[in-house]
Amino acid sequence: MTDCLFCKIVSGDVPAKIVRESDRTVAFRDINPQAPTHVLVIPRDHHPNVAALAAADAELLAELLREAGQVAAGEGIDGTGYRVVFNTGAQAGQTVFHVHAHVLGGRGLNWPPG
Ligand code: 5GP
Ligand code: ZN
Repeated sequence: MTDCLFCKIVSGDVPAKIVRESDRTVAFRDINPQAPTHVLVIPRDHHPNVAALAAADAELLAELLREAGQVAAGEGIDGTGYRVVFNTGAQAGQTVFHVHAHVLGGRGLNWPPG
């Protein structure tokens, strides 16, 4: 999608601090980190949210989650703990409508979230 920010990160038209890449996914640091580790993992293909991705391509969703785990391991937070979040819809705080897993960790995380 030409007007999608995260599609532009996939294509390289918008720069990002890339952490990891796979054939079908890209992981990069959030521009406004909410924890010492805050990485976004996205599919290269455009899907608007996690439910749409699950319906369209369950294997790609599985790859996204495997990559999220690899990001956590690479950041050294897989032992201490981390959170994988898919904000879905405006009231849940979704602002970019290209599905992305937030990988958050490196500090204690409150539950329930705000
Ligand atoms: P959402 O609010 O949709 O769940 O998450 C979108 C995330 O994208 C936010 O955490 C926001 O900080 C991040 N973000 C927005 N614009 C950019 C950008 O241009 N580059 C990067 N790296 N992150 C961005
Ligand atoms: Zn997109």
